[in-house]
Amino acid sequence: MANKWVYMFSEGDMTMRNLLGGKGANLAEMTSIGLPVPQGFTITTEACTQYYEDGRKINDEIMAQAMEGVKKMEEINGKKFGDLKNPLLVSVRSGARASMPGMMDTILNLGLNDEVVAAMIAGNPDPAFERFVYDSYRRFIQMFSDVVMEVGKKYFEQLIDKMKEERGVKFDIDLTAADLKELAEQFKAEYKNQLGTDFPSDPVEQLKLAIEAVFRSWDNPRANVYRRDNDIPYSWGTAVNVMPMVFGNLNNESGTGVAFTRDPATGENKLMGEFLINAQGEDVVAGVRTPMPIAQMEQEFPEAYAEFLKVCETLENHYHDMQDMEFTVENKKLYMLQCRNGKRTAPAALKIACDLVDEGHKTEEEAVLMIDPRNLDTLLHPQFDAAALKAATPLGKGLGASPGAACGKVVFTAEDAEAWNARGEKVVLVRLETSPEDITGMKASQGILTVRGGMTSHAAVVARGMGTCCVSGCGDIAMDEENKKFTLAGKEFHEGDYISIDGTTGNIYDGAIKTVDATIAGEFGRVMAWADKYRTLKVRTNADTPADAKKARELGAEGIGLCRTEHMFFEEDRIAAFREMICSDTVEEREAALEKILPYQQGDFEALYEALEGNPVTIRFLDPPLHEFVPTEEADIEKLAKAQGKSVETIKNIIASLHEFNPMMGHRGCRLAVTYPEIAKMQTKAVIRAAINVQKKHSDWTVKPEIMIPLVCEVKELKYVKKVVVETADAEIAAAGVKLEYEVGTMIEIPRAALTADEIATEADFFCFGTNDLTQMTFGFSRDDAGKFLNAYYDTKIFENDPFAKLDQNGVGKLMDMAIKLGKPVNPKLHVGICGEHGGDPSSVEFCHKIGLDYVSCSPFRVPIARLAAAQAAISQK
Ligand code: PEP
Ligand code: MG
Repeated sequence: MANKWVYMFSEGDMTMRNLLGGKGANLAEMTSIGLPVPQGFTITTEACTQYYEDGRKINDEIMAQAMEGVKKMEEINGKKFGDLKNPLLVSVRSGARASMPGMMDTILNLGLNDEVVAAMIAGNPDPAFERFVYDSYRRFIQMFSDVVMEVGKKYFEQLIDKMKEERGVKFDIDLTAADLKELAEQFKAEYKNQLGTDFPSDPVEQLKLAIEAVFRSWDNPRANVYRRDNDIPYSWGTAVNVMPMVFGNLNNESGTGVAFTRDPATGENKLMGEFLINAQGEDVVAGVRTPMPIAQMEQEFPEAYAEFLKVCETLENHYHDMQDMEFTVENKKLYMLQCRNGKRTAPAALKIACDLVDEGHKTEEEAVLMIDPRNLDTLLHPQFDAAALKAATPLGKGLGASPGAACGKVVFTAEDAEAWNARGEKVVLVRLETSPEDITGMKASQGILTVRGGMTSHAAVVARGMGTCCVSGCGDIAMDEENKKFTLAGKEFHEGDYISIDGTTGNIYDGAIKTVDATIAGEFGRVMAWADKYRTLKVRTNADTPADAKKARELGAEGIGLCRTEHMFFEEDRIAAFREMICSDTVEEREAALEKILPYQQGDFEALYEALEGNPVTIRFLDPPLHEFVPTEEADIEKLAKAQGKSVETIKNIIASLHEFNPMMGHRGCRLAVTYPEIAKMQTKAVIRAAINVQKKHSDWTVKPEIMIPLVCEVKELKYVKKVVVETADAEIAAAGVKLEYEVGTMIEIPRAALTADEIATEADFFCFGTNDLTQMTFGFSRDDAGKFLNAYYDTKIFENDPFAKLDQNGVGKLMDMAIKLGKPVNPKLHVGICGEHGGDPSSVEFCHKIGLDYVSCSPFRVPIARLAAAQAAISQK
């Protein structure tokens, strides 16, 4: 049998969402439960996919079935397409599986042409009717031209404005039939002027072009961006819904509205919405006139309002969720044009979920599944004031690398950030890119904006760790760091100018936008408690400081999965000693320098153990290449030379010798411990001494250090470093005369480690997937530079997502799965986690649950997101 591309509303139901799209499935469902829906048909999402497969053409089979649908629709409605006695006019609307509000196209009043218009008017002597017909006609020409033929809306709006000015009226509604007739003529002339052809008068041709336009709109730039932001696959396609028009603009007994069964901003259980008399749906959305609150509809249309209230109740009881509805009243009679589970803010989502459980609509598990984990972000960071943000226009856009809102004065160096902050100024640090040296300046900033770097660039990772807003990789900025200025969208910014950045959307704004503090509503805790009840995956945090660790604990972290010890070396009081270590010529010199750092490092670890109160703490040994630590400023180089008793030239030679062409694949990770075992020794001493001290203070805690060796690619490498660690640790424990257990594990972040995980597991107590490096090395994409070319990959549909943000399950994921399957049989006690950035990404967390990880570890502010995502994975799997 041929494919079925078209379903009448009476043939579908809400379970057919994948095929009919959300709108189509819900129109069918509303039909089946007897709600007043104008009867039309849906062209499936598969037809959209076929359209793209056929090289953006609607094939004959699909079009023939659509015309069959038209025929049936004509019969049901007793009107005919293009007929001069009883013409049928239709709307053509998009509707994907997941709702994508405002992203795709809609065409209303299709089927009108000069003859139909004339015939309609001839059949009804009421002058108000004539006005309505011309109003519909000019709307159709305008919308068709804009949406289908891509002639800018503005040309038509200019004509309307001109007409209103000439007539001395303020609103469209004040234009007469004659005015609108003239406008329709002007619109057609404008169409011809823009496109060089006449406006298409054949309704069948109009329909075909409109269907094509909706399919095409699936691939428009804003839809592509929306999909990427919301994890919606390109392959889904959109359905097209063709339904008979009902006319809210027929007369003053008619109108149109949009409503939510509960408040989408707060979640309050109260009907919210807006209504416009004598209007079509677009007017409500476009703000052509100010609509009235929905409650006022009761006075104007008491019967339709009463019926609408009943519909709301029916729909909530049917869908067990807050509904977002579009409806029209034509001659006092109510028609439902759309319903869907309404979009809502994060606080509203939590309140509605709790209320629905209390009202018996949902179980706890279902309530947990209702909340988009990504939305929780907005609850945890300062936010822009919604009204202020709405009124602002972004100047540019980078990657939303660390959520939150930041507004402050532009500074260009970390030192300035610190200095300005110290005198009470709020600053946004703008850099080409950040480096580890900038850390204190980053901490002192409200937000960080970088020209270069992706989602796992230094700025992004560190900012997320600190919970500081960050927009990275805004390549449109022309930066002049030397002269402390940059240009974006034609505006030159200087030090001290106000700027605002949105770390969620990546938008950059000129000037100061008001921010409000994050609030955590009471329902937040309730939903998180349900999440904890149902998840099996543990959630740890990536934290390097006691403050981060404490924050993460507050947000529910059950341990530290990654402490990057290198961040501890950049503190003012220890960087000098560390530089001495790097510039040492002999082991003795090196050990002497390391000896100076040891007490600091031990203190750091003690504070972390204290903050974690006996929960697991994984400490990763030094990872980055040494050249990152050497001084770049002349004064610092001189200082170092003096401290080392060496010449400036010698120091400069050492620095030059550390240069690498590929530092990310260079002398870093456990390679440092292989060449300088004394670093690993010092770190082991610090870990073990700290653990012993804290264990002594808190006998009721179990302090069991987990030492993690980075960047292992070969079991012998791990064995070599582990020997250093074990000998040092055992000697420390023996000297202290205590009992202390500890573990030595490894990161799996080089493909070869995953491939040889059965060998590595013989030496490792645990694996932790470093998916930042694993992604980098599996793809061969530099994690710091990929942002520069990934946009081209999105545009060409080679990639739908940033693999550094959302785990590549097919490739990188396969390596992870393989490593677990190879490792566990060899070492049944092996525990496995992930600490790359993916550990806080919902779809990646779901994957980690599926392949049997024990825990995910993510930056503190992502902990609640990971907890919820882990619960959703467990519940869905059931
Ligand atoms: C990783 O590579 O995923 C990781 C966690 O380590 P880092 O980001 O410090 O290289
Ligand atoms: Mg790594």
